[in-house]
Amino acid sequence: MAKKKKIRVAFRKNRQKKPRRQIRPQQLDASHDSDELQAGERISGKGDLTRYRTIVSVGNESEQGLVRNVDEQNCLRGRVLTPRGAGCLVQAEDGSHYDCTVRQLLWTMASQERTAVVAGDRVLFRPSGQGQGVVERIEPRQGTLSRQVRGRQHVLVANVDQVLIVLSAVDPPLKPGLIDRYLVSAARGNVHPVLCINKVDLADLSDMTPVAGRYAQLGYEVVLASAQNSYGIPRLRHLLQGKETCLAGQSGVGKSSLINAVQPGMELKTGTVSVETRKGRHTTTNARLLELDFGGWVVDTPGVRQFELWDVPLAELEQHFVEFGPFRGECQFRGCSHTHESGCAVKRAVHRGFISLSRFDSYYRIRTGDFMG
Ligand code: GDP
Ligand code: ZN
Repeated sequence: MAKKKKIRVAFRKNRQKKPRRQIRPQQLDASHDSDELQAGERISGKGDLTRYRTIVSVGNESEQGLVRNVDEQNCLRGRVLTPRGAGCLVQAEDGSHYDCTVRQLLWTMASQERTAVVAGDRVLFRPSGQGQGVVERIEPRQGTLSRQVRGRQHVLVANVDQVLIVLSAVDPPLKPGLIDRYLVSAARGNVHPVLCINKVDLADLSDMTPVAGRYAQLGYEVVLASAQNSYGIPRLRHLLQGKETCLAGQSGVGKSSLINAVQPGMELKTGTVSVETRKGRHTTTNARLLELDFGGWVVDTPGVRQFELWDVPLAELEQHFVEFGPFRGECQFRGCSHTHESGCAVKRAVHRGFISLSRFDSYYRIRTGDFMG
């Protein structure tokens, strides 16, 4: 029998301070604003600040999974294609699309996050009319990619098998530091990384060998590709087939072009999926899910530039640099951070060429909080 678990969430009345995201009132699911309390939900405490609602939910919550009891009989299962304003576009199991709002309670439970639902979320939703619905439950998230926005976690995408880290050989130039940050984030989110160096038609392939070789040697899959002349595209197609893949990478590296090369006409099809633009200091666009004809999904995350690490405990960081492994235990001091200490076996290995300087530089920057390099 599934384990019952109580979650306590702050009870936010509608007239209380609005969250910082700009949501028009009509976008919210008004019928649930006063949230008639369901069995198992109750309010405790007296003042506004001490008001909490206890929700008894069934199942195994992951840290980010939001599970609650809902009337499953009247609900359909679906997948969030893209968040839209305060709601999202959901594809039901039969392939039809629903424009959904999200129950206020789920927003409340996700108050620490930027959005209640993210692309890739598996949801239970209640159809409420012509192509419309209300998301009632968000299933626990498995493979996630997150980034940090002003100190807050921003989950970009949920339930993906792998992340295709797209870089370009030139224009914009290859940034190894960015590769390493993506790799650490992928490892943290439990997502298998694949590196794709695009625009090789503009470069001398032999110039790419050192970088590609360095990562291949560490055990990462590396694809050299060109969306322009189709170099590497069959291999890419093979790697994507039957998998759920998130595309990540700076804007301009050729993510959209690669999707089109892998499946011609894809962009045309996705024209119906409007991607919302948020107003604010940083204009970002939401991720969207695209189904592949030959099996699998890709998730496009436009606007991902500074891919910062979310919440990597410093002691854990070195584990994500696999090549440090044989040396870590040999440092003079226990708990050596491999930055300023003397007698550091990792730094010695860098000097001797066993660990690449570029990789060590990435580690050092992350460890010391210098993300901008
Ligand atoms: P995105 O922002 O990552 O989706 O990048 P786009 O797919 O929009 O591509 C950015 C620019 O790079 C466009 O002008 C593309 O035509 C160009 N581009 C993409 N892939 C290649 C490639 O393999 N070779 C060359 N020469 N140009 C490319
Ligand atoms: Zn050390």
